[in-house]
Amino acid sequence: MTDFARTKSMFHLPEGVIYLDGNSLGPLPKAATARVARTVQDEWGEMLITGWNKAGWMALPSSTGDRIARLIGAAPGTVVMGDTLSIKVYQALASALEMNPERRVILSDTGNFPSDLYIADGLVRTLGDGYELRTVAPEEVLEAIDATVAVTLITEVDYRTGRRHDMKAITEKAHAAGAIAVWDLAHSAGAVPVDLAGCDVDFAVGCTYKYLNSGPGGPAFIYVAPKHAETARPALSGWLGHEAPFAFDLDYRPGRGIERMRVGTPPILQLAALDASLDIWDLADMADVRAKSIELTQLFIELVEAACPALALASPRDPAIRGSQVSFRHAQGYAIMQALIARGVIGDFRAPDILRFGFTPLYIGEEEVRGAVAILKEIMDGNLWDRPEYKTRARVT
Ligand SMILES: *Cc1c(COP(=O)(O)O)cnc(C)c1O
Repeated sequence: MTDFARTKSMFHLPEGVIYLDGNSLGPLPKAATARVARTVQDEWGEMLITGWNKAGWMALPSSTGDRIARLIGAAPGTVVMGDTLSIKVYQALASALEMNPERRVILSDTGNFPSDLYIADGLVRTLGDGYELRTVAPEEVLEAIDATVAVTLITEVDYRTGRRHDMKAITEKAHAAGAIAVWDLAHSAGAVPVDLAGCDVDFAVGCTYKYLNSGPGGPAFIYVAPKHAETARPALSGWLGHEAPFAFDLDYRPGRGIERMRVGTPPILQLAALDASLDIWDLADMADVRAKSIELTQLFIELVEAACPALALASPRDPAIRGSQVSFRHAQGYAIMQALIARGVIGDFRAPDILRFGFTPLYIGEEEVRGAVAILKEIMDGNLWDRPEYKTRARVT
């Protein structure tokens, strides 16, 4: 059984704050402070360039990838870190399209995170030649998979509502129709148990600064199924994905297996922070995390609906088709969220009217859920959100 009191004690959580936004930016693992300082002072500072070998910097993208693999149902040696998620989406998508050269359609859905759709659109424009991004409503994805689809690009958990797609069913249908399945795990990795191998997923990508707590700008990961790893062309053919980067050949030859999905110099300071966070994740069992997450999200929905009737549930009521976040709608959602943040309850707002709350059992428990709802009730009962300073939109919402 995962000891959540212990995992909670391993995070720095500011006094007086109830943090329900770990789905967007995870909090600081206490050990990351010293770990990053050590990497800066002892490694970068003292070892200088020899740190690439002496401190093992070059191995970090694969070793941290292996640690994430455990959380997403992937075998060691199938996940590597690097770049940001938008770039990994491009890489997976372009690689997958090349594996299905007779077809021209990328299928995605309108619930996907815009960056994924923008990247797909940009790739389609670059390729020309009849390539097309087709988006359907989330509920229609399964039905829309037909023999014209080259690649499905689906984000498992909807960033606004937490609605969760059926990874196994969609991947099976994609394969039956001759398509390649690419999954985005941005709101899945560390939030819900994922079984990439069991679902026979072809490519998957995700970020680490959300539930995996690697800090702002932390690197993304990419998974390639073992059956494709030696044949997929990495699409972004950077020198560190080369079979022998330090041979400095003029011709590109992809590296072995997942190593070919590396592009350029890895972000060592961020990887050090991620590695410290994964020490906490090593203490967690995803089945326990999921059970606790369902408990917390159910409790939150029940309490908010009883205390704040003006808020309308925007997430699926059935936890089986919901990730680890809960959203409510209100026309004054932005101002309400600012009033909450001013009182130490941090969630976030997603246009046009969504108040979003993330539940992260490693450091959030029932006490925080009850505390947050009590403050939300005060704000709603007293219209405390109705102040000009809560209505001015900041650059990041
Ligand atoms: C958070 C998120 C991103 C962000 O991409 P970055 O390149 O890391 O900024 C992309 N896609 C999805 C589905 C996300 O949830």
